[in-house]
Amino acid sequence: MGKVYIVGAGPGDPELLTLKAYRILKKADVVLYDRLVNEDILNYVNPLAKLVYVGKEDGKHTIPQEEINRLLLFYAKLYKNVVRLKGGDPFIFGRGGEEALFLERNGIPYELVPGVSSFYAVPEYGGIPLTFRGISSSFAVVTGHETVGKRKYVNWKAFKDIDTVVILMGVKNRRRIAKELINAGRNPYEPVAFVERGTTEDQRIVISTLKEVSENPPEVNPPAVMVIGNVVNLHKVLKEFNETGRFTYGALKDTPGRHTDT
Ligand code: SAH
Repeated sequence: MGKVYIVGAGPGDPELLTLKAYRILKKADVVLYDRLVNEDILNYVNPLAKLVYVGKEDGKHTIPQEEINRLLLFYAKLYKNVVRLKGGDPFIFGRGGEEALFLERNGIPYELVPGVSSFYAVPEYGGIPLTFRGISSSFAVVTGHETVGKRKYVNWKAFKDIDTVVILMGVKNRRRIAKELINAGRNPYEPVAFVERGTTEDQRIVISTLKEVSENPPEVNPPAVMVIGNVVNLHKVLKEFNETGRFTYGALKDTPGRHTDT
């Protein structure tokens, strides 16, 4: 019986791979990888390894989870080093927990290798910090794909007072999400950013407001991270900062939501 490594591949930029992931990819006998794994990362895999694509389309699961589990079991019996490579971090909306549970139940040795998650790295590449002194002291990460079977399990009301809300898998439902957040009591004029294909060469940022997204949503293509909150306004400042190498608090004076007492 071999060992299964459940490995996070990071959000896209191959340099965001961890050294541990890199080392394990070099010794892999087989790699089962997802749609969100940047193909450039596959260049780092042991050239003799077998590559198996088990990508799932948003919404329609081309390969059911049970089938992926079955493949893990199959390859673990066949090879020494089986790598299950997932976008971002395996335990953040990646169903890595379910796979670990399956391996545990079947007595297959496994190891978890965390990855850099898109939820913070993608906004960061877009110049948006999830926390910022005086502007955001809390954030929440929520799925925009909120049903399991027919059961809805996101309580949008809970996000009224969280400073920054980050939504993964939210592109398709962006209009409804924006409506839910306004209904929950958030300010309709709050800025919203979508960072598409973050950390890759095709990264693109779309800035809007909750109101606009709820009424006339801008064109956005998945994968994208949706960020709601006043920190979104910082992307301009940080852009300027990156260009000039200078950062002045003065530039933040007009940022809505900046508390004057800090
Ligand atoms: N486990 C992953 C998340 C899987 S859910 C992680 O930790 O990052 C898939 C969602 O992640 C996508 O719908 C999108 O919202 C986000 N995502 C992942 N990679 C992304 C990227 N490079 N750019 C923008 N969004 C990304």
